[in-house]
Amino acid sequence: MDSFDIAVVGGGLAGQIAALALARSGRKVLSLTPPAPKQDQRTTALMDQSIRFLERLGLWAEVRAHAAALSTMQILDGTSRLLRAPPVAFRSQEVGLDAFGYNFANASLLPVLEAALDREPNATRKPVVAESISILPERVELRLEGGEIASAAFVIGADGRRSMVREAAGIDVRNWFYPQTALVLNFRHSLPHRNVSTEFHTETGPFTQVPLPGNRSSLVWVLKPEEAEACRELPRDALSHKVEARMQSLLGAVEVEDGVQAWPLSGMMAKQFGKGRVALVGEAGHVFPPIGAQGLNLSLRDIIALQDILAPVSGGDIAVDAGDRFDRRRRVDVASRTASVDLLNRSLLSDFLPVQMMRAAGLHMLSALPPLRGLVMREGVEPGRGLRSIPEAIKEKLTRRRS
Ligand SMILES: Cc1cc2nc3c(=O)[nH]c(=O)nc-3n(C[C@H](O)[C@H](O)[C@H](O)COP(=O)(O)OP(=O)(O)OC[C@H]3O[C@@H](n4cnc5c(N)ncnc54)[C@H](O)[C@@H]3O)c2cc1C
Repeated sequence: MDSFDIAVVGGGLAGQIAALALARSGRKVLSLTPPAPKQDQRTTALMDQSIRFLERLGLWAEVRAHAAALSTMQILDGTSRLLRAPPVAFRSQEVGLDAFGYNFANASLLPVLEAALDREPNATRKPVVAESISILPERVELRLEGGEIASAAFVIGADGRRSMVREAAGIDVRNWFYPQTALVLNFRHSLPHRNVSTEFHTETGPFTQVPLPGNRSSLVWVLKPEEAEACRELPRDALSHKVEARMQSLLGAVEVEDGVQAWPLSGMMAKQFGKGRVALVGEAGHVFPPIGAQGLNLSLRDIIALQDILAPVSGGDIAVDAGDRFDRRRRVDVASRTASVDLLNRSLLSDFLPVQMMRAAGLHMLSALPPLRGLVMREGVEPGRGLRSIPEAIKEKLTRRRS
């Protein structure tokens, strides 16, 4: 029986990045990465903090060639309601960054990760599933597809929403559902996007265009489930016209590419993100609608925290309460991101006038008050960064007044 410091179950983006980060920090890691049943057609927008993490892992240079910078993010009210919010634009230069983040196809990062794991001396990658997991007082035992048994001092569940690791640890979840489906697709356009991402707020949810390299963009369009299904069944030309009309031809003529997908919107949060010898990262711990590019950014912050907790202190053993420490460390961030995505989505769906007034007023304040916009932008690229910058901003103001 092979034994490891850490077993990472799951070969999605969260699992492979976790395995690589922990192997790089000196732990002996088993990474289980069964082949995906179908190609991941999604794109992911990663914010500045996440990009810097990929840079530290030596992954970014290869992915950058397939990524588009997000330098301006604008929100336009596309509702026909009585109270409409003013347009708001956030420019990365306002907070001293070339870009808030970058958008790329998941399919361009996955092979880079697999190759990096295969080169990593501390990592053993096996393209098989864990068939059973036993969490024992002194170790974790995994039975792998093919009959092999492996043991580890700690297990990371990165095995997605129906996590077997979570079940083996006896961790319960809270599930919720929205009356919406996200239509997810990529498209070509005749005009350049100039690295601008545009989010139209509509009565059925956000319609978000995010730049890809060249004259291409990805789109997440939140609709009523029956509308999303009807759009998916449209001939490609008709769907292209519909997308162009919704965007008010902002990017000229639109040509939708193959691989249109529909994702029913739902949320899930584990009641604990870790305990004892177990931690849950990515969608094994938290799932929310693909609104505001949050999911993988949050998962990378899970991994950064785990690296801190599990990195060897002069070769020491992993503490038996490492999972509980991880749980305490991640609670506030995961809960607050989940709540903000939920609030944004529900505020769009609500026909209740006071809710519409609050949304319009919030966006109006964002458009009119540069310091508030700066705070929101810094929080967006790295949670805590905006709040940390407040004392510095006050100090700077006082110094300027004195001089
Ligand atoms: C439409 C859409 C758009 C999104 N856009 C963004 C975005 O712009 N920005 C952002 O930050 N996030 C985004 N997200 C979220 C992001 O894609 C996910 O958070 C991210 O991919 C992490 O997923 P994961 O690795 O946790 O789970 P998954 O991708 O589900 O991977 C789980 C893996 O575990 C494996 N597995 C399952 N059971 C076992 C087992 N028993 N043994 C071994 N392996 C197992 C599976 O085969 C799979 O490979 C989006 C999500 C959606 C749905």
